[in-house]
Amino acid sequence: MESGATRDVVILGSGPAGLTAAIYAARAELKPLVLEGEPSSTSDQPGGQLMLTTEVENFPGFTHGVLGPELMVSMRAQAERFGAEILTERASRVELNTSPIGVWIGDPTAPEPTLHARALIIATGARSLMLGLENEARLLGYGVSTCATCDGFFFRGKQIVVVGGGDSALEEALFLTKFGDSVTVVHRRKELRASKIMQDRAFTNDKITFRWDSSVVDVLGGERVRGVKVRDVNTGEETDLAADGLFVAIGHAPTTELFAGQLEMDEGGYLVTHDGTKTGVPGVCACGDVQDHIYRQAITAAGSGCMAAIDAERYLSSLT
Ligand code: NAP
Repeated sequence: MESGATRDVVILGSGPAGLTAAIYAARAELKPLVLEGEPSSTSDQPGGQLMLTTEVENFPGFTHGVLGPELMVSMRAQAERFGAEILTERASRVELNTSPIGVWIGDPTAPEPTLHARALIIATGARSLMLGLENEARLLGYGVSTCATCDGFFFRGKQIVVVGGGDSALEEALFLTKFGDSVTVVHRRKELRASKIMQDRAFTNDKITFRWDSSVVDVLGGERVRGVKVRDVNTGEETDLAADGLFVAIGHAPTTELFAGQLEMDEGGYLVTHDGTKTGVPGVCACGDVQDHIYRQAITAAGSGCMAAIDAERYLSSLT
């Protein structure tokens, strides 16, 4: 890539949203540049959250499912086949109030941006907040999950633990009662943060029990989850709970630090979009989990990536 070059479309992020945007923009002959993120960094995940899953059974087109990483490798190859350029780099700074937009890679204090973009598609995603336990990371995809909609089906007839006390935790717990024999919600306080209606539904569901004033301090199991170690926050007493699955539902954080002060965000830090994928800045579109805290599915992210590429293409056409 030539330094200081101006590209028609730069895409930040390489999950289903970013790569679908790349496929569409490449097929529109816009020669998009994708900054896929850096694998070494703790905050990036080139390929997005599907790189952290095993089987994906709900992405249309795969009768027998597909491995998350396999799906993302295919999407990446498909984008490259149509001429998308993919760099294993991260944007360190963006300046959205200039035309064309300035994008820095590397030193964010450099006086000049590394490249310019006539249109920018933001697909930097979100990450599930995790407990931060060593065995939680090791068993992610092997009984530890952050998405009941994606993985609940694998826990038919099993014992499930959900950690968290907000709407997400109860929504996951209620959904999981369709599959599991029992769902235990472990919450660190005695009061839930979740809305009253979700609490009522959870309290009246026979399959759901609560473990109050408790935190999950370890995930047990060799190849797969076999249980969790729970500590009573008042007494310090530790108990092992048998479980086949642990769903971590303690919130999400969108990757929007780069855009602070430049784009409108909601109270959760998600980018606000309108009329499809448009942000408040002309030529800047946002798609996928960075602007969606409701659906958060690979297929919805991919769909909005397609929309962002079409919105960017129309914006570029309007300039000429
Ligand atoms: P949230 O409301 O921030 O709740 C996070 C929960 O996780 C809290 O109960 C919190 O405990 C707990 N938690 C946080 N860090 C923890 C840790 N390290 N260890 C153990 N527990 C921890 O997040 P959310 O449930 O994802 O909801 C986010 C937003 O989306 C909310 O506005 C929610 O209403 C909305 N939402 C709505 C629906 C719906 O209406 N159907 C569904 C999902 C989400 P504390 O309570 O002690 O802080």
